[in-house]
Amino acid sequence: MLRPDGFAERLCLVSLADLAARGFTGIIVDLDNTLVAYGREQLSDEDAAWIAAARAQGFAVCLVSNNFNDRVLKIGDALDVPAVANALKPLPRGFEAALRLLATPRDRTVVVGDQLFTDMLGAKLLGLHCILTEPLVAKDWLGTRVLRMLERVVLGRRPAA
Ligand SMILES: [Mg+2]
Repeated sequence: MLRPDGFAERLCLVSLADLAARGFTGIIVDLDNTLVAYGREQLSDEDAAWIAAARAQGFAVCLVSNNFNDRVLKIGDALDVPAVANALKPLPRGFEAALRLLATPRDRTVVVGDQLFTDMLGAKLLGLHCILTEPLVAKDWLGTRVLRMLERVVLGRRPAA
């Protein structure tokens, strides 16, 4: 249940060609520490370009965040993709809302995120393919930091330097 289907160092390093070849048509992207550093609004040119390339190649893209402020929607607006805030991952609600926005079937939708107990577990609960990324920065909300310690136990990862 907690095993990601794939790993990528960063969002922009997830191969769109590979996703397309495997029949995926929808991409759900986590916000904090996957697309932007925690608490920031600025995303990297590479990640913005990846989102644009995904859309140009015909993927439906949606942001899903447990964060509840309008920063989530603002970033979605800036990227011209829909966004679901206050998702309560790993509960299914947020990803279900994203699936409705994407209008893609579950078995053709992939979740990309940096957390095991929210993004990956939430994806698995709905039968979605999931790719785990390295968190963009080590600074995190306290609750997230606790979860990361548990992630390291599960994945056998060493703490970030
Ligand atoms: Mg995250």
